[in-house]
Amino acid sequence: MKEIVFQYQVLENASALSSEDAQLLQKARAATSKAYAPYSQFQVGAVAMLNNGETIEGTNQENASYPVGICAERVLLSAVSSFYNGIAIKTIAISCHNLKGESKNPVSPCGICRQSLLEQTIRQHQPIKLILSGMEGVVYILEDASALLPLSFTAADMK
Ligand SMILES: [Zn+2]
Repeated sequence: MKEIVFQYQVLENASALSSEDAQLLQKARAATSKAYAPYSQFQVGAVAMLNNGETIEGTNQENASYPVGICAERVLLSAVSSFYNGIAIKTIAISCHNLKGESKNPVSPCGICRQSLLEQTIRQHQPIKLILSGMEGVVYILEDASALLPLSFTAADMK
């Protein structure tokens, strides 16, 4: 029998974060207002801190043809790859603003985004730390985003 252990840190609120991480989460919370989410009313903001100290944002972009919509995380990863090609992502903070309800719970990347985060992690040879939180309240910290997708499919499976 094999076992996969998944660990993450739970903080009561953002005040226990380092100042760098707290600022990144604040930017992710602010970025939710730039989402285009007229259908779900669920605005997501994802902000990356790159190895060079720069930050870059992504927000979810919906479409009347629903499957065309793109999550904030993949908008962000595409932007980093296009505008900061070759620069690794150190940390990504993700927040959500649910216009139809509460926004007190951390939001976690969907399955497709977990796959994209894994690919980025492999490309950059460096784990991506995740900071997950709503507009207020509890914060989850994961030291390696790829832990969200155990027994994953990667290029190594096609050799
Ligand atoms: Zn997603």
